[in-house]
Amino acid sequence: MDATTAVRKGGSWLLEETVHADVFTPEKLTEEHRLIARTTEEFVAHEVLPALERLEAKDWSAARVLIRRCGELGLLGINVPEEYGGLALDKVSSLIVSERIAPVASFAATFGGQANLCILPIALFGTAEQKAKYLPRLVSGELVGAYALSESGSGSDALAARTRATRGPDGDWRLTGEKMWITNGGFADVIIVFAKVDGEQFTAFIVEKSFPGVSAGKEEHKMGLHGSSTTPILLQEARVPAANVLGEIGRGHKVALNTLNFGRFKLGGMSVGGCRTAIGEAARYAAERRQFGQPIAAFGAIRHKLGEMTARTYAMESVAYRTVGLIEAYLAGSSAEGRVAARPDGPALAGPSASADGHAVAQAFEEFAIEASITKVGGTETLDYVLDENVQIHGGNGFVKDYSAERYYRDARVNRIFEGTNEINRLLIPGMLVRRGVKGDLPLVAAAKRLQDELLAPSSPAARLDEAGPLDEEARAVAAFKKVALMVLGTAMQSYGQKLSDEQEVLSYAADILIDTYAAESAVLRARAALAGRYDHADLHQAAASVFANDAAQRVEHAARSALAAVADGDTLRTLLAALRRVLKVAPVNTVALRRRLADATVAQGRYIVG
Ligand SMILES: Cc1cc2nc3c(=O)[nH]c(=O)nc-3n(C[C@H](O)[C@H](O)[C@H](O)COP(=O)(O)OP(=O)(O)OC[C@H]3O[C@@H](n4cnc5c(N)ncnc54)[C@H](O)[C@@H]3O)c2cc1C
Repeated sequence: MDATTAVRKGGSWLLEETVHADVFTPEKLTEEHRLIARTTEEFVAHEVLPALERLEAKDWSAARVLIRRCGELGLLGINVPEEYGGLALDKVSSLIVSERIAPVASFAATFGGQANLCILPIALFGTAEQKAKYLPRLVSGELVGAYALSESGSGSDALAARTRATRGPDGDWRLTGEKMWITNGGFADVIIVFAKVDGEQFTAFIVEKSFPGVSAGKEEHKMGLHGSSTTPILLQEARVPAANVLGEIGRGHKVALNTLNFGRFKLGGMSVGGCRTAIGEAARYAAERRQFGQPIAAFGAIRHKLGEMTARTYAMESVAYRTVGLIEAYLAGSSAEGRVAARPDGPALAGPSASADGHAVAQAFEEFAIEASITKVGGTETLDYVLDENVQIHGGNGFVKDYSAERYYRDARVNRIFEGTNEINRLLIPGMLVRRGVKGDLPLVAAAKRLQDELLAPSSPAARLDEAGPLDEEARAVAAFKKVALMVLGTAMQSYGQKLSDEQEVLSYAADILIDTYAAESAVLRARAALAGRYDHADLHQAAASVFANDAAQRVEHAARSALAAVADGDTLRTLLAALRRVLKVAPVNTVALRRRLADATVAQGRYIVG
């Protein structure tokens, strides 16, 4: 991990300035990180892809073999301490694996069910006995894991689960209920099950499929992810030993939410990996496919698509790496406070997070829950955009199964539904910010007030455009987005007070502004680092960041106008809209030329080129 990454609080980027040297980017990966990337890519290309037909035929013995291979390669225990068979590496390494496992999304779901949803909660919340009993066999891939939170009547409203746990006379638990849509359900050995003790106290349990009363229902017939098992898990007076409560009774929400915080972050990272693969395939196809006597890659309409796919991917990739850098820096900070043991003799990648105790890691995930939701929503929606354009670039071939464009498109759709729907995550983003502001954890209210005073003061003359250096205009645009976000949040807080959570449309507009702000800033900071460090393709970094920031300005303006018009009217609205126009003065950029440059470089190299 780069030593310069600054320790910050979650959400503080909205109120503070960040310099490029403080931000973690893919360009700062070490040789060891790159080795993990190559290992995962080769595993997917040479072992997972050839098994796809068997996986899609629901031959779960093939999935077991692949999970076992993941264990042998160390991919399942990236963040697990060595004493439990893991590699004890940093969180960057686990992001890299998530990105690189993405091209076969069915197996990526199987892998995520095991590594993110079963191994992670045991590693974070398990007792020493539970970790010793389950982790080594899960990390080696001998056992397959799953996570059973959802029920037919409670998906988004997961804490309304009806599965009950009652204590038997022998002290063991009896679990009764039905869990729905459980990834790996058809062949999992160990399942993290959430149930309410005596119908009230939401609690997590480690349940073995072999326990009496536990069984899997029939495989679901899905739109995509045909190579991943999804079944109900039936619990009929299932006998669970007293020692298998995970975490504390009545504190199951802590296990569920912190598991999802990191899981959804990694799903965002996985989505970025999917974007990169699809861009490469789209570019190669566009170079080969000829119409009207020339490659379709020569047409402006196709160059626009490839350029835009690249710019959006660049922004979300920057988001994912910046966020994992923040998590690592936060854990390093807690190390300084003495909560995390130093590892002078650890492997090169063993950052502070590798040896942090479960409590410290769960706290770090909670601290950056806003950024995790941004990565999830931004990543999954960028992926859907990229995969839709990938089908379009492939024309009729995009609609038939001979090309992977069709599978990618179907497989990706569920990403906006699981790990918290994108609607729920959108509500969480401003909701968590406002809550931290009200609690005084972030000086949000004071910043909104300062902005109000600034907007009411006579305006100072704007800086001359011809003085701008590279990406200065884009950086100014990002500063303006932050003001717009504060204006919308501040006005909404003032108008609705406690009832703000009822105003979902306004909150969703605020979320869109916050997502674009964090993404544009992450892209601009990364591109500035590329220019300052004279990295390869620094001009492409600059082009991608510039396209993204310029288009984000239009989206931010639209979202802000819509939100403000819902919150205010009459003279107040007119004043707010005038202030919005003043703040959001972004100099126009020739994004057509920049997208062409990105597209041409992508086609020339036959791959996503920027990072
Ligand atoms: C392939 C697949 C694999 C899965 N794997 C797992 C797994 O391994 N483990 C597991 O526990 N679950 C799993 N799930 C379940 C998944 O997490 C849920 O489907 C998801 O949480 C959404 O819940 P739901 O389907 O009940 O939709 P609902 O909650 O009914 O939502 C329906 C719609 O209403 C919206 N909505 C709901 N509440 C609100 C609100 N308060 N405000 C605004 N909008 C709202 C949603 O955003 C959505 O658009 C999986 C699902 C699928 C399809």
